[in-house]
Amino acid sequence: METTATPLDEIHGQIAAAAKLAQRKVEDVTLIAVSKTHPPEAILPLLEQGQRAFGENRVQEAQGKWPALKEQYPDTEVHLIGQLQSNKADDAVALFDCIHSLDRPSLVKALGKAMDKADRRVPCFVQVDVGEEDQKGGCAIGDLPALLKQAEDAGIPVVGLMCIPPLKIEPAPFFALLDKLVTDHGLAGRSMGMSSDFKTAVMMGATHIRVGTALFGKRGSH
Ligand SMILES: *Cc1c(COP(=O)(O)O)cnc(C)c1O
Repeated sequence: METTATPLDEIHGQIAAAAKLAQRKVEDVTLIAVSKTHPPEAILPLLEQGQRAFGENRVQEAQGKWPALKEQYPDTEVHLIGQLQSNKADDAVALFDCIHSLDRPSLVKALGKAMDKADRRVPCFVQVDVGEEDQKGGCAIGDLPALLKQAEDAGIPVVGLMCIPPLKIEPAPFFALLDKLVTDHGLAGRSMGMSSDFKTAVMMGATHIRVGTALFGKRGSH
């Protein structure tokens, strides 16, 4: 009998191959399965296969799906990878285990307050606008030192930096830039790499890769 490799198996294989080329340990790379737009029926098979880190980009959508799934699989981590409005900070702190889109002073203020109120410190990545594109969010590189200082003062645990490189350009230089910024600021986490470029990202030091389409298929097909 033949056993078919699942998309999850294949991605694990690709992560392992990229890590080996870069002489990195595969345990140092967390695969975040980006389940945005996908219903619980699509997520459950991955949970059954042992996947425990997931990414969502909307607070409301995540509130509708994750409390029930987490009850079944309590050791699951849900990461917020999309832009966050300051007025949803309380909800985000209550629901998410990690936030990848901290990118501006007003959000630092809101999240700091929300964490104090909930007495819950949610690890955050500061999103950096490596391609100088306004529409994706992210803090300008020049503003990063001040934002990191402000987050520290607000009691927000910043664990690393996140980027979304510009589309249709070779992403490696942007990953190298993020890697350097992380090192320069004495941080450790590098949230970079999606379906199309996670192998490059792993070779360039990613600690968290965010993979949706390669695991779930195209969004909008449900
Ligand atoms: C949707 C999304 C991803 C996943 O993208 P795929 O190309 O489907 O792997 C990763 N990161 C962010 C910030 C996203 O919004």
